[in-house]
Amino acid sequence: MDRERVLLSQKDIPQKWYNVLADAPEPLPPPLNPATGMPLEPKDLSPIFPVSLIKQEMSTEKWLKIPEEILEIYKIWRPTPLQRAVRLEKALKTKCRIYFKNESLSPAGSHKLNTAVAQAYYNKLEKVNRLCTETGAGQWGSALSLACHLFGLKCSVYMVKVSFQQKPYRKSLMHIWGADVYPSPTNLTKSGRAVLEKDPDSPGSLGIAISEAVEDAATHPDARYALGSVLNHVLLHQTVIGLETKKQLELLDEEPDVLIGCVGGGSNFAGLCFPFVPEKLKHKKIRMIAVEPTACPTLTRGVYAYDFGDTAQLTPLVKMYTLGHSFVPPGIHAGGLRYHGVAPVLALLVKTGIIEVRAYPQNPVFEAGVFFARTEGHLPAPETAHAIKCVIDEAKNKENKCIVFNYSGHGHFDLSAYDAYLAGKLEDFEYPADKIKDALRKVPKVG
Ligand SMILES: *Cc1c(COP(=O)(O)O)cnc(C)c1O
Repeated sequence: MDRERVLLSQKDIPQKWYNVLADAPEPLPPPLNPATGMPLEPKDLSPIFPVSLIKQEMSTEKWLKIPEEILEIYKIWRPTPLQRAVRLEKALKTKCRIYFKNESLSPAGSHKLNTAVAQAYYNKLEKVNRLCTETGAGQWGSALSLACHLFGLKCSVYMVKVSFQQKPYRKSLMHIWGADVYPSPTNLTKSGRAVLEKDPDSPGSLGIAISEAVEDAATHPDARYALGSVLNHVLLHQTVIGLETKKQLELLDEEPDVLIGCVGGGSNFAGLCFPFVPEKLKHKKIRMIAVEPTACPTLTRGVYAYDFGDTAQLTPLVKMYTLGHSFVPPGIHAGGLRYHGVAPVLALLVKTGIIEVRAYPQNPVFEAGVFFARTEGHLPAPETAHAIKCVIDEAKNKENKCIVFNYSGHGHFDLSAYDAYLAGKLEDFEYPADKIKDALRKVPKVG
């Protein structure tokens, strides 16, 4: 066995997804219907999601079988390698062993295709004709475009306007895979028009784009909505990452001491870490660290409260860490990870002390990304570079630890952000306390 790069064969692709809710120390606070304030019922979600995904969303069953058709497509790039970052270790002069799970090898360039394929499959099964979604930097939009194309669905993507203008190549990728892409806020939806009326130059935000995509799906009977993170079923689909990693570490006779991932909505982090939660609950040796930017400090400075997932307050109320649904991250922030909230399950595990949190400003994050590219060769997505910054900090002065992180995506479409970093044009940004206070004031009072 080559100890630097553990490859599994296709028969090792997990046959089931793991549902951490079956093992969580406390039940998840129920999502609430925003109109009634009562716990959400499956029928409340049926205008926007197919029944099978609503079932998964509400399931507490521990293992859910992965359909054959999805496994067939996973075989395009799964299992992904678990790779030892030997050159990074040497450069850091650390005694730690550092491994990364390389999810950047999917055709869409990130972990997001794991759930995109599953979501497209279930929608196709229920005769949906078109999927609507939002995208920030474009990773999710491109993953869903490809998944829809593979299952013969149409795809409409509302792309945050500032990214639409700054990241034209992800848009090209979506076009190649057959999707329609709109810069959000658009005048195609009520929520988009409302934003444009107040601020014709709005750069857009994920919250706004979500409102537009949800509205599009809810007002067209043959369309449904797809979300690339945050929801229980999305996190569930991503557990193939951690399940494979477990197998790969066993082959190496390794037990992880520290697991690290970056957090936008929480799906790649959950995908790597959740399958290790049962061990953590048994002997508590494994640390799990969720890393976010100081420019959008949801886990480190947000409140644990019920809030909306979007700006127009169309989504259910969910209990999570939030910066307030009106939060718009600063335009100077180049490093992705811009969502005001976080997956409720991840929030619960942070609240109960199972998961640790950390935030970094963007310059040290990009520095870590470049350092990784110069040692290991791979150029990480700026999101992924947050995890790498944390890995580097953890590896310093620590003897003999096994550190594993999720290499969630490559940075080949993020070169303008790297250019800005190399030119010294990136500003570090701490979200001002009074601005956070303002946004938090708009969190609805519930219970
Ligand atoms: C979308 C994305 C993230 C953040 O989303 P999560 O749901 O928190 O995983 C991180 N890394 C990459 C490469 C992404 O595309």
